[in-house]
Amino acid sequence: MATVGVGTKSREIKKVFFVSSREKGRREKLKNIWKRKCCNVEGDGGVSTKKKSIEAGSCNFRGRRVIELDVLARALDSCCSACGKALQLSNCQDETISGLGSFLYIMCSDPECGEVNVCTTNKSHRAAGAGRGRPVFDVNTKLAAGMLHAGIGVTHVNALLTSINLPAVGQNTLKAREREVGPAIEAVARNSCLEGLQLEKECRRTGDTEQVVKIGVSYDMGWQKRGKGHNSLTGVGSMIGLSSGKVVGYSTRTKRCALCEAAKRNGKEPRSHDCRMNWTASSKSMEPDVAVELVKGAISAGAQVSVMVGNEDSATIKKVRESVTHEVDKWSDITHAKRSFGSHLYSLQPQHKGILSTKVINHFLKCFRYALSQNKDNVDSLEKNLKAIVPHAFGKHNKCDSSWCGFLKSPTTYKHKSLPLGKDLKGEKLEEDLNAVVDIFVQNSEKLAPLGSSQSNEALNNTIGSKAPKIRHYGGSESNDFRVACAVSQKNVGYSYVAKVSISFR
Ligand SMILES: [Zn+2]
Ligand SMILES: [Zn+2]
Ligand SMILES: [Zn+2]
Repeated sequence: MATVGVGTKSREIKKVFFVSSREKGRREKLKNIWKRKCCNVEGDGGVSTKKKSIEAGSCNFRGRRVIELDVLARALDSCCSACGKALQLSNCQDETISGLGSFLYIMCSDPECGEVNVCTTNKSHRAAGAGRGRPVFDVNTKLAAGMLHAGIGVTHVNALLTSINLPAVGQNTLKAREREVGPAIEAVARNSCLEGLQLEKECRRTGDTEQVVKIGVSYDMGWQKRGKGHNSLTGVGSMIGLSSGKVVGYSTRTKRCALCEAAKRNGKEPRSHDCRMNWTASSKSMEPDVAVELVKGAISAGAQVSVMVGNEDSATIKKVRESVTHEVDKWSDITHAKRSFGSHLYSLQPQHKGILSTKVINHFLKCFRYALSQNKDNVDSLEKNLKAIVPHAFGKHNKCDSSWCGFLKSPTTYKHKSLPLGKDLKGEKLEEDLNAVVDIFVQNSEKLAPLGSSQSNEALNNTIGSKAPKIRHYGGSESNDFRVACAVSQKNVGYSYVAKVSISFR
C-alpha cells in the first residue's frame, strides 16, 4: 500500500461523437451510482516533481490517497473494457471517495472510443449479510480496527488523516466499519480466552483421565471511570490463570445505551441494534456478578475454579461460593496485602511521633516483603517469620532464625542496617501496637503463603484503559466492548491479533 499525491486543475469530460444514447445513459448512470463526490483536500506542494506530467493530462483530483499499488496497477493493465487500449492515470476524469479508498473514472486513451472505465484503488469485500450495494474497501475496515487498537475515536483518526492530506473519513462510514470489525475482534478475544483456559487446564492437569480440572485464577474488576468512585457506567471483570498467565474469561457490564436513551427521550421504540446495556444496579455490585458468570463459564468448559486470588472484597467470594457446588479457596492478593500492611503502619504514626518514622516503617515493609518471598507455599515458616519481625527490631532475637537474623550470626558486632543509627527500637506501647498489626497478617498466613497476585489483572485493566481512555466515554455503544476485546486479545495473542482480525472479515 502506498500514499500518492497529485494536484491538477479540473476539466470537463470531453464530448465524444458516435456514442449511442444507451451507452451515454450507461455512462451517466455509472457516474451517478456513487453519491459522494471528489473531496477538496488542498495539495501542499510536496509532489512538485510529478505535477507537470499529470497537469498535461486531464485528471482533477488533489491531495493524497491510500493506494494498494498492485490493485491499481492491475486495474490500469487490464485496459479499456470497450476497445482494449491502454488506460492512463492522468486520464482520470472523476473520483468517488469512500473512506480511504477511491473509485477512479478513467477515460480511454483513445479519444475516438471515449469509454469511461471504473478502477478501484483498494481491495474490497462484501459486508456480511449485504448481498447487494456498494462493496466495502478492506482498508476502511482495517482503519476501524486500527482505531479501536490505537484507542482513539473518529475525531482523532480524521485529525491524523487530514494533517497528511488524506481525505477525512465520515463519522458514519467509520462507525459502520467499526460495527463490522468489532464482532470479529470479540470472536478473536473469546477464542483466545478458551485457548487460555485449555492451557491453564493443561498446566494443572494431574492425570490423563481427569474430566474436570481444578484451576487457580486471579480475579479483578476495572471500572472505566477516573478515581475510585464506584459510579462508573461500565465495568470489566477478568479472570487470569495463575499458571498460564492468560486471560481465561472476561465480561463487561454496561449501564448506558445512547440509542435506547435517545429513543426513550423521543417516546419511540428504539430501532433494532446491538444493545449492550445489561446492568441497572450499582457499579460496585457488578464485581460479584461477573465473577459468578465467569466461574460458571469455566465449569461448562471443564475447569473448576478452586482457587481465587482477589482483593479483600468479601462480597465476591461469598456470592461465588453460594452459586457453585464445589469448594472455592480464597487467596489474598499479595500486592494488596503489602499495601494494606503499609497503610496499617502509617495509621499508627500519629500516636508514635518521633519513633515510628518513615524510615522505621520502610524497615518493617522490607521485612514483611522478605518474609513473604522467602516462605512461598510454607505456611508454618511464614507464620514464624512474621511473628519475629517486631521482636527482632526491639532487640529480642529468641524468635529469629539464623538464616536471616544478623544478630544470631554475630551478636557482638550486629547493627540494624535500616533502623535509625542501627539501634534497637524502644517503647512497650509501640511494640504492642506493631505486634497487633502483624497479628492480622499472621492469622491470614494460609492465604498469603501461595503469593497469589492479581497484578496481571491490573496490567490488563491498564491496557483496557489505553484502548478506551477514561477521559473519553465509549460506554454509550458497543464501542466499549470492542475496545475491551482488543485489550483481551492483545494480552492473550499479542499484537498479531490485529492481523487475525483482518483475515476474519474477508
Ligand atoms: Zn477504449
Ligand atoms: Zn440499546
Ligand atoms: Zn533477630
